[in-house]
Amino acid sequence: MGKTDYKEATELLIENVSPIGTCMAGLDDLYGRILAEDLLAGEDVPYFAKSPYDGYAFRADDTSDCSKENPVTLKVIENIKAGQCAKNEVISGTAVRLMTGAPLPKGADAICKYEDTSFTESEVTLFRPYAAGENVITIGEDFKKGTVLATKGTRVDIGIIGTASSLGFNEIKVYKRPIAGILSTGDEIVDPEEEMPYGKIRNSNRYTIAAALNQLGFDTVYLGRADDNVTAIAELISKGEEIADIIVSTGGVSVGDYDLVPDAMEQKGYRIFTRGVNMKPGMACAYGVRDGKLLFALSGNPASSLTNLQCICAPALRKLTGLSDYGHKVIQMTLKKDFKKGSNAVRFIRGALELKEGKAFLNASYDQGNIVISSAINCNAYGIIPPNVSPVLSGETVEGFLF
Ligand code: AMP
Ligand code: MG
Repeated sequence: MGKTDYKEATELLIENVSPIGTCMAGLDDLYGRILAEDLLAGEDVPYFAKSPYDGYAFRADDTSDCSKENPVTLKVIENIKAGQCAKNEVISGTAVRLMTGAPLPKGADAICKYEDTSFTESEVTLFRPYAAGENVITIGEDFKKGTVLATKGTRVDIGIIGTASSLGFNEIKVYKRPIAGILSTGDEIVDPEEEMPYGKIRNSNRYTIAAALNQLGFDTVYLGRADDNVTAIAELISKGEEIADIIVSTGGVSVGDYDLVPDAMEQKGYRIFTRGVNMKPGMACAYGVRDGKLLFALSGNPASSLTNLQCICAPALRKLTGLSDYGHKVIQMTLKKDFKKGSNAVRFIRGALELKEGKAFLNASYDQGNIVISSAINCNAYGIIPPNVSPVLSGETVEGFLF
């Protein structure tokens, strides 16, 4: 199988995933979840007309000839605060003193701030005419019953939480948060609790990949580390199938003597539909599916696996979480530094996107090497350097996306 073009590889993954099901989530657990149904307004909010100020409610008609020279004095018949209703109807010549949020009393149709009046306990004097409806928060001013406030597939943000709680929802239907099983391979890899003899290296992918998956909306579980042998890898794949919705492995997927993950996948009955993506870094990979569950076998090189995951796998992974707008947010970005490395494969360069004077600049990391994971610190974007165009000089613009 030849290497796949990166756009095609992205599409193939997207075709192979769908969300894993739904559940109810309470308001405390809602932030960042993905709506599995439209958020529909079951009532007008607010459901009663009310006051935006501490002030007085009265009939606008009583003020039609009112001015500084010819003020109008009304009798204050009641005093209410938020949460209370006036017992008496406001008739001509009367007013109700009310606090912010208090319901508009029957008969009244205008409100003034108390700073704009002069008042005693029993009277209030107004100095200008008020229009009917003036300073009244109307029924449904926030939103009307029947309004679709957010659509299925939207990530729950602060506004959705505020709106849902103002509607009285206790819980909302969301997509289940998928679980990714993380599998490390390589005789040389050492987990934190283990001793590290000279020549071995620490398992950083386990945590890097978990963090990237958390950012995409996944929970993660560590399946363990397998030595470079097919049976050991296949055993951890079996474990992952039992407890996870997808599996992400690192290492053992290139073309060396000990690159045995694709063999283990085949032994386990996976259909490998992509074997290598024509990109740098992150070329070595295998994506396979079995019984609808995906296994993303990524390179062991820390920057390669991360780049492959964030650039190629991310849209499909977001789709799996239920997000409807799962594609990359592509924007034009101007390079802040020259990028001179030539390549006949597309290159994804990581960096920090800076917004200045209405333009987006990519401040690319100092070293884009396969093994250089520290260059991912403070990165929030990738720039895409098409094949055979380098050098791309500072000030030139490329396509890229935020992650
Ligand atoms: P591989 O893809 O197995 O050929 O590994 C490529 C490079 O990545 C080797 O230098 C490995 O030691 C390194 N590597 C593999 N797995 C990990 C890991 N979990 N954490 C950090 N480095 C790794
Ligand atoms: Mg290896």
